[in-house]
Amino acid sequence: MEIASVTFRAAALAAADRPTEPFPHVVVAGRSNVGKSSLLNWLFRRDLARVAKAPGKTRTVNFYLINRNMYLVDLPGYGYAKAGRGLREQWGAAINAYLCDDDRIAGVLCLVDVRHGPTPLDLDLQALLARIGLEREVVLTKADKVGRGPRAAMQHRVRAELELPSPPLAVSVARGEGRGELLARIDSLVTSWRSSERRQ
Ligand code: GDP
Repeated sequence: MEIASVTFRAAALAAADRPTEPFPHVVVAGRSNVGKSSLLNWLFRRDLARVAKAPGKTRTVNFYLINRNMYLVDLPGYGYAKAGRGLREQWGAAINAYLCDDDRIAGVLCLVDVRHGPTPLDLDLQALLARIGLEREVVLTKADKVGRGPRAAMQHRVRAELELPSPPLAVSVARGEGRGELLARIDSLVTSWRSSERRQ
């Protein structure tokens, strides 16, 4: 797939405030500073998502209408709140309710920094997604920050640790690596969501 059009809509997550179209949602999640805004701007080829915001400031949920037939949903980053507060408390009830209840969610892109691997809050997210039964696609960000060897080792480690069917994709916005593969994985989440919708 390619992104031909993007329309930005900020929104709250209460059921009444979400976009109403029956389009699939691909949700993008990760800890603050993982490179989420940079990655979204890179996919859009436009600076719509703010980069390098003050840590922990962005609490809005941003819905981006893509190609007039799907949404990319940018959730607030986690991990800057006081130590000891879990993902559930940081994100709050609205995000949990959205992830649990909205049957338009085709999958969640879980961004993880290639240098650090999954943090405890990343593992909380994985557990939450497993409990809800949502599809996930783990993406290692900032791949240019490590050499080939450490990158491959982290892909191997994360695949084993998170029990993924295949190694996670590693992308670099700085070097422009992995954009096509990432779009293909988004497309595949959306395609399987559409075919399961048809079966119902
Ligand atoms: P967010 O908090 O997850 O939205 O993260 P940002 O997109 O604001 O990125 C955090 C920092 O990481 C910024 O300084 C970005 O320039 C930097 N960054 C993001 N992606 C990459 C990348 O692919 N390579 C490198 N080297 N730096 C990156």
